[in-house]
Amino acid sequence: MATSTVENYLKSILRLQRRSGSTAVGEVARELSLTPGTVTTMMRHLSGEGYVDYQPRRGLRLTPDGESAALRVVRRHRLIELFLVQVMAMDWTEVHEEAEQLEHVVSDRLIDRMDEMLGRPTRDPHGDPIPDAEGNIVAMEALPLAEVESGMYRVVRVSDQDPDLLGWLDEKGMTIGEEFELSHCNRAAGVLEIVREEAERLQMGMQVAERVFVESVSA
Ligand SMILES: [Zn+2]
Repeated sequence: MATSTVENYLKSILRLQRRSGSTAVGEVARELSLTPGTVTTMMRHLSGEGYVDYQPRRGLRLTPDGESAALRVVRRHRLIELFLVQVMAMDWTEVHEEAEQLEHVVSDRLIDRMDEMLGRPTRDPHGDPIPDAEGNIVAMEALPLAEVESGMYRVVRVSDQDPDLLGWLDEKGMTIGEEFELSHCNRAAGVLEIVREEAERLQMGMQVAERVFVESVSA
C-alpha cells in the first residue's frame, strides 16, 4: 500500500502527463513546490517500486501499475468530494481540502459503499469525471473558457483547487451545466464578457476563465 506522499506524487504525475503522455522532474517539482533534487530521489524510489518509468534527463511517465494506483486515489478524492456535498451538505468551495486528507485514509470498502449510496456517479461536484473501480475514466473534451472563440457554451467543469474562484462563481450563481454566450473576448486586456439568461452580462478576468472549462453548444 502506497504512503500518502507516494499517492500525491502519483496523482500529480497523472495530471501532468495528461496532455503529452509524459512529464519531467522539473514540472513535478514546480507542481508540488519541492526541489528537483527531492523529486529525483523520489523518482528513483518510485521507479524501483514499479510505479514510474524514469531515466535521468528523459521524460517521466507512470507505468500501468502507477497509473492504476493514481486513478484509485483520484477515484477516492472525487467520490469523497461528492459525498461531502450531497450527503453532508457541504459547500463545493470547502470539500477539496477535506478530500485531500481523506483520500489517503478511507478503505476501499468504505469507498465502494459511498459509490453505491451515491448511485454510482460519473462526475464530482466540480464536473471532474470519477474513475470506476476498474480505473476506467471518461475522457473530457472541455477547453478553458479563456481559449475559445465567441459562441454558445456550456460549463462542464471548474477547477477544484481554488476556493476563492469557487466562492466567486457561487456568488454569481454559476453552476456546472449553465449555458451562456461568450460575446466578447479581449485577450490583450485580459477580460471577457459572457451573456447569461435574461441578457445578464458578466465580465470575468482571464485568470478565472482559464479555470472554467466549457464545451460548445450547437445552436
Ligand atoms: Zn478536489
